[in-house]
Amino acid sequence: MPKDYYNILGVSKDASDDEIKKAYRKLAHQHHPDKAGGNEAKFKEVNEAYQVLSDKEKRGQYDQYGQTFEQAQSQGGFSGFEGFRDFSSYAEGFDFNFGGGQGGFSDIFGDIFEQAGFGGGRTRGRRRHRGEDIQVDVEITFEEMAGGAEKEVELYKKVKCSRCEGEGVEPGSKKVECEKCRGEGQIRTARRTILGTFQQTTVCPECQGEGKIPEKKCKNCGGDGRVREYEKVKIKIPAGIKDGQTIRLENLGEAGERGGEAGDLYVNVHVLPDKRFSRDGDDIHSEAKISFSQAALGDKISVETIGGEVKLKIPSGTQSGEVFRLKGHGVKHLSRFGHGDQYVRIQVETPKNLNREQKELLERLQEIK
Ligand SMILES: [Zn+2]
Ligand SMILES: [Zn+2]
Repeated sequence: MPKDYYNILGVSKDASDDEIKKAYRKLAHQHHPDKAGGNEAKFKEVNEAYQVLSDKEKRGQYDQYGQTFEQAQSQGGFSGFEGFRDFSSYAEGFDFNFGGGQGGFSDIFGDIFEQAGFGGGRTRGRRRHRGEDIQVDVEITFEEMAGGAEKEVELYKKVKCSRCEGEGVEPGSKKVECEKCRGEGQIRTARRTILGTFQQTTVCPECQGEGKIPEKKCKNCGGDGRVREYEKVKIKIPAGIKDGQTIRLENLGEAGERGGEAGDLYVNVHVLPDKRFSRDGDDIHSEAKISFSQAALGDKISVETIGGEVKLKIPSGTQSGEVFRLKGHGVKHLSRFGHGDQYVRIQVETPKNLNREQKELLERLQEIK
């Protein structure tokens, strides 16, 4: 609930500036925290009320909307105000940077987002001349996931025009002042909102803020500075990446208009299922079949891992369903040193279709028991 500043100062809504000042002085004196019987909270409240009511513009805003523009802003929300519904163009005009920075961790593989999906990693003040972000899906096998991979993808995207070097100017001609903004690069418009009228500046749509336009537009790109072409991109996929994760590669998206910054490329990684292995965190699970006699007597068996075959010692008396751990044979940890483990679940195969000799041996075994 907005505070009633008139009530706080004990004046009427049509009080003159003089009346407000007098009321403030009296109350400020009365509640001053340095004084005996002073009250800091009240003192602050009185001050706050006076700050608004003694300022013609703020008082007007307060009278009309119950709060001032400043207050609306400090409460962090334009969203609740109808006048700011057109948020993107507002942001653009004032050149806000929404969390701007590069954020996240970045290495040679680019940023990796957990289930982030396209464009989910960050938001930034959109500038019209920046190139579009694009996305591509890449499928890798379980082994490529475990060992890391390099994949080549072909993108059909806007790239810098080679005829004009991305400037949009026909070779031999030059740039001239933009008529629409008279070279300022910005256009000022009055914007009416429920909080009153504000002057708003927007980037000139004609010159994208540059203040200059090509005298003659490049014949190859029509002045945009970009053309669509196929481009091959090599993507390094780090070992240990999870199915559904997205890698962001900066500036590998579409070229920006007239030499503007390129957008980013988002690579959505899909890991194909594998018949032999399943993944649980950075651990791998697999199964191995052994014979009845191997289980009873013990043995050394070969087990498939993502790094090739390794030997696993089966102790005598192993039961079906027992699980053995192969330390360090799991998936490489994505963001720290080391690997997970592999867990091998043993399945004891009961012999079928026995020949006579085998049958006799088993019958003797039973008799001995
Ligand atoms: Zn061109
Ligand atoms: Zn312009």
